[in-house]
Amino acid sequence: MGFATDAIHAGQEPEPHTGAVTIPIYQTSTYVQPELGRHKGYEYARTKNPTRSALEANLAALERGKYGHCFASGMSATDTVFRLLKSGDHVVAGENMYGGSFRLFSRVLERFGLQFTYVDTSNVDAVRKAIRAETKLVFLETPTNPMMTVTDIAACADVAHNANALVVVDNTFCSPYLQRPIELGADIVVHSTTKFLNGHSDSVGGVVVSNDDAIGEQIGFLQNAVGAILSPFDSWLVLRGVKTLAVRMKQHEANGMAMANYLAGHAKVQKVYYPGLPDHPQHELAKRQMNGFGSMISFELGSFDNAKKFLDRVRLCSLAESLGGVETLISHPESMTHASVPVETRTRLGITPGLVRISVGIEDIDDLIADVENAFDGV
Ligand SMILES: *Cc1c(COP(=O)(O)O)cnc(C)c1O
Repeated sequence: MGFATDAIHAGQEPEPHTGAVTIPIYQTSTYVQPELGRHKGYEYARTKNPTRSALEANLAALERGKYGHCFASGMSATDTVFRLLKSGDHVVAGENMYGGSFRLFSRVLERFGLQFTYVDTSNVDAVRKAIRAETKLVFLETPTNPMMTVTDIAACADVAHNANALVVVDNTFCSPYLQRPIELGADIVVHSTTKFLNGHSDSVGGVVVSNDDAIGEQIGFLQNAVGAILSPFDSWLVLRGVKTLAVRMKQHEANGMAMANYLAGHAKVQKVYYPGLPDHPQHELAKRQMNGFGSMISFELGSFDNAKKFLDRVRLCSLAESLGGVETLISHPESMTHASVPVETRTRLGITPGLVRISVGIEDIDDLIADVENAFDGV
């Protein structure tokens, strides 16, 4: 089936008792067993819940993987993946990624003896050089947050697999509509479902999708053993959100491109970071690897003062962390999402005091551009 059809139907048979078209919210903690030693596949709701199972099957289908496991947040999904490793193992990770992932690696996982090397993963040679005998996992985020750097997933997968390391891709910025890392050779895909997958800024969650039987089994074991599961209600919200993923992403894409072109032509904008613009350093790779460029854009206004004046004047765009919602969200990475990244690293990556990130929503683009135009008048 096509992507839009899968988004609406995969994992979602009508409910057997009543024929309800929508998967119910199975708000239960346990299930009656008809006799000792026999059950209907459900014993306890941390282990399995039908609402969550439907979402897990749905997201696995969209990412073209076999196994989906949903978690209470994107961070708990990522954390669970790292529990496949053990003390002494080494990880190569992108130097520019979601600030919370960096915080998890550097301030939590390192305490348990995992070792991390951070490199610019858009440079495949840098990934190759960082691999050691103990390297067990390569963690990629592409495009990166917030610099929108694009990494060649297939090339990095080759390098990692030559070293018997797993490749994990955080696909939150793209959603499977724009990019399917498993088809490009990744072993595991993680998402914050909080963002484009749910799309309505009303739920926090995460998912791990894998294709290999042994990995799927281990993630399922860890999901149950560690227990950071997605609730039935949140599972239902994400199922509902995903039904419109294809149409939302089309509009995000159109609005993202229009906004990027508008910003690129504006005298008060020094630089625009968007893989859909021909001057983006990995524009050709993005064209090849992604089915569109999305609606995440960062741009440089030259100083904190300019960024503050601009952000204080937007009205329709909401000044907020997070991204991927139907409403346009705008933020200041240096002081908001990436405040936990050391200042030297931020400066080197380009996360400057004048950098603004916009997650372009699906409102009328003329209204969005008018709002941004009005905010520029104060800069
Ligand atoms: C938001 C985000 C996360 C973390 O997800 P939560 O649901 O907030 O825990 C991880 N990676 C990326 C790229 C994100 O944008």
